Amino acid sequence: MKLIDVHAHIQQHDPAELDGILARAAGAEVGAIVAAGVTVADSRRCIKLAEQHEAILAGVGVHPTDLEGPLTAVDLAALDGMAGNDSVVVMSEVGIDHQEHVLARESVSGRPWAEIQGEAFTQQIEIARRNSLPVVFHVREPGDDPDAASAWPVAMEVFRATSAGELGGAAHYFQGDRAAARAVLDAGFMVSFGRPLTRLKRLQEIAAWLPMDRIVVETDSYPQPFKKDRTKWTEPRHLLDVAECLAEIRDVSVDEVIERTSENALAMLRDSRGRVKRLLDG
Ligand SMILES: [Zn+2]
Repeated sequence: MKLIDVHAHIQQHDPAELDGILARAAGAEVGAIVAAGVTVADSRRCIKLAEQHEAILAGVGVHPTDLEGPLTAVDLAALDGMAGNDSVVVMSEVGIDHQEHVLARESVSGRPWAEIQGEAFTQQIEIARRNSLPVVFHVREPGDDPDAASAWPVAMEVFRATSAGELGGAAHYFQGDRAAARAVLDAGFMVSFGRPLTRLKRLQEIAAWLPMDRIVVETDSYPQPFKKDRTKWTEPRHLLDVAECLAEIRDVSVDEVIERTSENALAMLRDSRGRVKRLLDG
């Protein structure tokens, strides 16, 4: 079986780089990559790439930090239309982000950003439900400000109100503590680990403790021009490092990690035409 990167943003790379990125991924056991959109236009780009490249699957959604105000009726209709596309396997990237600089932006609608984010998250989960899509979500805490409201309870309240766990999905690029991981499982979701797993002991402890049928892996790859050395940019090929780290933590073979995480992803994603299964079996 092959690995699947359940969350990346390779649609944001220079199109000229894509063939190289895909070839390097294929050379590192990665058989499929989900390109997750962060705006309506970006989601459209993901679908286009998924229609052009067999190994790319699409996610659609508006990221909480990319909201320009409440989602409009036009945005919602566009997302709903895209969610029905055969290349789309997940509603992503959506979620809650309480970083100070995000919530402190001036709001054109006059409403607080936290409220706008919660509403957009709820609306996009409803679109996911109408289209039988799982939800791979982003939750980001405020950082060091002790007075700022935590993002996890807000996300959990949205899940409770929408019964989103019935749709399945995962907490993307998980960096929370064990209580947050417990809450993610209880809400009905999987936990998705990226490269931070390879260096953070506290995440490794959580990865050792989680049930193996609730773990998926990702890279969250996007262009990283702030890293001067291009070979240091995170790409889907680095998924194998995450899988190798997980194998060490769980004391199992890398093959077993590949098989289990890919089975988990297959159980999670919408695969109406069996394309994901073919890619991972092939
Ligand atoms: Zn992302």
